[in-house]
Amino acid sequence: MKADCPVCKEKGTLILKTTTENIPYFGEIMESTVKCEECGFKHSDVICLEVKEPVKYNLTIGKEKMNTRVVKSQSATIKIPELGLKVEPGPQSQGYVSNIEGILERFQKAVNTALSWAEDENSKGNAVRILDELNSIRNGDKKVTLIIEDPFGHSLIEDKNAIKSKLSPEEIKNLKTGFTTIDQ
Ligand SMILES: [Zn+2]
Repeated sequence: MKADCPVCKEKGTLILKTTTENIPYFGEIMESTVKCEECGFKHSDVICLEVKEPVKYNLTIGKEKMNTRVVKSQSATIKIPELGLKVEPGPQSQGYVSNIEGILERFQKAVNTALSWAEDENSKGNAVRILDELNSIRNGDKKVTLIIEDPFGHSLIEDKNAIKSKLSPEEIKNLKTGFTTIDQ
């Protein structure tokens, strides 16, 4: 399937690819990616084909967890509290199937971007410190907690040590869903 690109406006350069995967004890997920052949614009999402309960995953991560598989849906909030890192869903957020290493790389990229935009020494120093810490996790010098919260239950940390729990109504209320809501 080809479509027009929303970014460079070229005709018929946007290609949609979908793959379906069955994850044990989780169910079927469909990963879809659109990519523009012209300008390289890319967006991906995972769609879970089953209705799920709100869920929270908690896992201590270090070097030995780099290959642990992670499904992160568009509605998921992902956090590393020890480093003050948090990615909340928004119009730009993507869903993907990756592993812990891939998640750390995404954080690294985001912090690098923040560093290149930082104007004061304080934010620069903070970004450099976080990059160091992210490296220490990958080198095996540091362990931190990875938390994924998903009000639609479409996310997963596939590891026997991952602690799965229900989200409390209070936690659900405080989560962003990525959808626009109108306050009463
Ligand atoms: Zn394009």
